[in-house]
Amino acid sequence: MTPRRIAVVGAGMAAARFAHQALALAGPGELDITLYGREPHAPYNRALLTGVLAGRYGATALGLPTGGAAVRAGAEVTDIDPAARTLRTATGEAARYDALVLATGAGPLPAPVPPPPAADRPDADGHRAPERHAPRRGVHVLRSLADAARLTEDVPLARRATVVGGGALGVDAARVLAGRGLRVHLVHRAPHLMDRHLDAGAAAVVRRGLEAVGVTVLTGREVTALLGGARVTGLAFADGGRHATDLVVLACGVRPRTRLARAAGLTVRDGVVVDDTLATSAPGVYAIGDCAEHRGVVHGRAEAAWAQADVLAARLSGARPGARYAGSPRFLRLSAGGLQVAAIGDSTGDSTGGDGSPTDTVHLADATRGSYKKLLLRGDRLVGALLVGDLTGVADLTAVHERSEPVPRDPLHLLTTEGALQ
Ligand SMILES: Cc1cc2nc3c(=O)[nH]c(=O)nc-3n(C[C@H](O)[C@H](O)[C@H](O)COP(=O)(O)OP(=O)(O)OC[C@H]3O[C@@H](n4cnc5c(N)ncnc54)[C@H](O)[C@@H]3O)c2cc1C
Repeated sequence: MTPRRIAVVGAGMAAARFAHQALALAGPGELDITLYGREPHAPYNRALLTGVLAGRYGATALGLPTGGAAVRAGAEVTDIDPAARTLRTATGEAARYDALVLATGAGPLPAPVPPPPAADRPDADGHRAPERHAPRRGVHVLRSLADAARLTEDVPLARRATVVGGGALGVDAARVLAGRGLRVHLVHRAPHLMDRHLDAGAAAVVRRGLEAVGVTVLTGREVTALLGGARVTGLAFADGGRHATDLVVLACGVRPRTRLARAAGLTVRDGVVVDDTLATSAPGVYAIGDCAEHRGVVHGRAEAAWAQADVLAARLSGARPGARYAGSPRFLRLSAGGLQVAAIGDSTGDSTGGDGSPTDTVHLADATRGSYKKLLLRGDRLVGALLVGDLTGVADLTAVHERSEPVPRDPLHLLTTEGALQ
């Protein structure tokens, strides 16, 4: 039976897509969908936040359609009761639902806090020095429009900025801050940038692209503490080094928001565990987007969130009650000004063929023009690809990988010709 009242916890990218698709598929008046969002905004495209920081977009340009669903902005859901099919908000409002969709997203990992200073341990008389905390002013994350607004306000107060974390978000944020006239350092723990998606060669091209716009890249350095009083003045590294800065952006990763699900007794591992129907362990409760864990994977990407939202919308609207989500391919696309990166599938060559078959690589690198291309092949199948600089062929490669089709006899064509498959 099609549920009539659907409550969605979270009013982010997955929620908006779900509501829009479900209402488009359902008959008039069949569904009554309410999005409860903690942020004081209607849903918006979070993936464009660095564009807001760069001054390229105003906040209103980011709005996402919801197909006419009711949006309760500034309404944090504090409790859900799957047995009674009710929820409660921070303002004390209670609501009943037929189906509940958790779309609470992911939150940034916390800042490194200083280890207790020696003076903090009790001395011989049992006296303690006042407890120290990590500084708060000048320390930022970039996950919401409010974060982007706070960071934008702080930029004119700083000359030096440090971005901690050299994944896609850290790389993009460093580039934008350099473009806003700050002297920027990008600090990354691993030996090379974007190490979850890039090999050392591709990362070197990204590094050179950042250095060309004035960003200093420090790899293999782990930040252990933020220094300063009320406002940040520097960072401490695990190797004992220190680094002075006026502003810090933490881009150290995210973790799924699962508090509500845990409190309600749902099965949670890294994320809220869902099956191929996006159902959680509680009847009538579903989860999609960055908070959901499907087949052991939390995707943390908009494309996967949308694919999950589409399947759930097809099911709950009654349009395709048998629709199933079979997972999303690994894919990363970064368009950071002149810096273009695409990583498809097993782009670092970490996986092994189940049958022990070797992985072959096809490789084109042009350091002068900042281009790096690599295909990883097992037999006649593409298991991964990396493109930096020149993204010619990305559409064909994505299609070949997703459909698991045999590659052409000369796979180099895929790297040099757009539309080689036609
Ligand atoms: C700067 C940035 C750039 C990105 N770039 C890309 C990119 O290029 N490509 C890509 O694929 N992905 C990108 N992402 C990731 C992408 O934004 C996420 O995968 C996507 O937003 C996931 O959608 P979601 O709805 O699951 O979570 P979100 O969009 O984060 O929405 C979750 C919402 O739920 C709200 N919420 C949480 N708990 C509650 C509660 N108890 N009650 C009410 N509301 C609650 C949160 O406040 C939030 O508004 C980027 C993310 C950031 C931050």
